[in-house]
Amino acid sequence: MPTEEIRRQVVIIGSGPAGLTAAIYTARANLSPLLIDAPADTERQTTPGGQLMITTDVENYPGFAKGIEGPELMAEFRKQAERFGTEFLEAWITKVDLHQRPFTLYTENHVVKAETLIIASGASAKWLGIPGEAKTPHGFGGNGVSACATCDGPLPAFRNKRLLVVGGGDTAMEEATFLTRYAAKVYVAHRRDKLRASKIMQEKALRNEKIEFLWNTELVEILGTQADGVNAVRLRDTNNGQERAMEVEGVFIAIGHKPNTELFKGQLDMDPVGYILTNGHSTATNIPGVFACGDVQDSVYRQAITAAGTGCMSAIDAERFLDHLPVEMPSGEEVTIEGEHITRDRRLIIEPDGEVISNEPVFE
Ligand code: NDP
Repeated sequence: MPTEEIRRQVVIIGSGPAGLTAAIYTARANLSPLLIDAPADTERQTTPGGQLMITTDVENYPGFAKGIEGPELMAEFRKQAERFGTEFLEAWITKVDLHQRPFTLYTENHVVKAETLIIASGASAKWLGIPGEAKTPHGFGGNGVSACATCDGPLPAFRNKRLLVVGGGDTAMEEATFLTRYAAKVYVAHRRDKLRASKIMQEKALRNEKIEFLWNTELVEILGTQADGVNAVRLRDTNNGQERAMEVEGVFIAIGHKPNTELFKGQLDMDPVGYILTNGHSTATNIPGVFACGDVQDSVYRQAITAAGTGCMSAIDAERFLDHLPVEMPSGEEVTIEGEHITRDRRLIIEPDGEVISNEPVFE
């Protein structure tokens, strides 16, 4: 297929709450945003709509007193973004070049030129890296091992079975509680004797009679056969190092997430885990005109509402930048689309040619 060139004032990567909120705002600002989202792919853990597409009840998104299902909420976000003229492109981005504006994004069939780029590519589940965890046929991934209870828990392979959930955070509590709808028994293996999960989530899981906690316990290997999938696990006591086997027919890894930032490595400043750095006063990255919002830049809050909030911030930052107004960078300096730098103390403007002029108001 020939390569099509697309040019846009605003390009958004990602269609979770952050990306779609950025789309709603920039579309309403007549900036005709193009939103690129990855096709659904279980192996690469991509779902248009992001992590809420694999969440059941969302009870803490304001405006829905009775709660709402994650996929339904995302369908509403999407319709709202479409209503104001957002254009959607479903494609894998293979490479980005952020060295000069317009920025260039490459997909198999497109070259996309963007005056401003809003990155809302979210985060993906983490894995332990133990024997038996890899995708079948190398392990039992997809054949009794999963990182998403809401996606896979209802499958026949897990119904009325003994299942093991690994982790001690909110994700592990949520997954374990959800799995009790289908499973005969759910074990939660946690490497310490205290949970990281919020009190309410802990209590729900601790009260659930179908859940049994295995404290100070690490999962070291998943066992089974390719024909029948998982039939046991090997566990290690973190206090004395002793190992034992336990019969289970399914394993859910629920130990957190990692940001989807591989494409931008070496071009954008990131923390050691790979979260894109912004300074909280704006969503600007170290490259003027590139903004990041949602879980890709938030290792702390990671909520749909905060993702949507930062998506709104990114849209307003991109609008300001395109309007030739200064936007605060992670360094605390402000930068304009013309390349003017305003110092952190707001007293000086450094022009692109290096000339330094005062930013103090002039009173006649
Ligand atoms: P967290 O980082 O909060 O928890 C990860 C858990 O996995 C921890 O208990 C950690 O153990 C354990 N862990 C991490 N790595 C390993 C490993 N290599 N081996 C064994 N155990 C490991 O991630 P979550 O995904 O649970 O939560 C992330 C954020 O999302 C939180 O802010 C949470 O509140 C939020 N969230 C909210 C939900 C809701 O409100 N409905 C649902 C899900 C998530 P240790 O404690 O020892 O570090």
